[in-house]
Amino acid sequence: MTLRVAERWFEHRSVGDGVTHVWEPHVIPFVRCNIWHVRGRDRDLLIDSGMGMCSLKRAIAALLEKPVAAVATHSHFDHIGSHHEFAERLAHPAEAAILARPSRAATLLEHYADEGTITALPDADFAIAAYAIAPAPPTRLVDEGDVIDLGDRVFEVLHLPGHSPGSIGLYEAETGVLFSGDAVYDAELIDDCYHSDVAVYLATMARLRALPVRVVHGGHAPSFGRARLIAIIDDYLARRRG
Ligand SMILES: [Zn+2]
Ligand SMILES: [Zn+2]
Repeated sequence: MTLRVAERWFEHRSVGDGVTHVWEPHVIPFVRCNIWHVRGRDRDLLIDSGMGMCSLKRAIAALLEKPVAAVATHSHFDHIGSHHEFAERLAHPAEAAILARPSRAATLLEHYADEGTITALPDADFAIAAYAIAPAPPTRLVDEGDVIDLGDRVFEVLHLPGHSPGSIGLYEAETGVLFSGDAVYDAELIDDCYHSDVAVYLATMARLRALPVRVVHGGHAPSFGRARLIAIIDDYLARRRG
């Protein structure tokens, strides 16, 4: 089957709190990553960057008025594809080697590098067989308790391992906004990747359950509030603790 060329690859929409949701409508929902742009006074944040099948930087140029720090919540292919387009790149030390050398196995791309992953082509020349993730080594390593200061708003790094060893979230205590990556989102959670660890994941979930969040912007699926966060966590704990 020949796929048509998409009219537009990225969509975006403001969700309040100075946050813009960017997504790739022609990527199937299971691997469609939420990309978040956060407006700051002095600098902006970009949290994850999607598949990297075409230029994210060009697509969201209107949003990029200030220097932007591109954070990788972790190193799976669907979250880091366009990181190479951004000069400042933040990630946890436990994901750094994969970002520097993003092999198809280490990024999980080997399971999704076929046309079943997309419903249109980003451009006429795009060949899924040649699709690869470009190296994007972190320029700043961040870990639990580190702070990312945008001038008028401050995000704290939470180390949330389990889905992957260096999964991180960004928490803004002032607004109760949590960007959670793949540690928690409102769809089936993945804890059986080659570098997942269920015991560690359980501890991350217990920790997130106690966090006074107002809204969670996850790595996939729609955003949700604290009551839903607790329900998702309790469901996970019940299934995995037995
Ligand atoms: Zn992931
Ligand atoms: Zn993901």
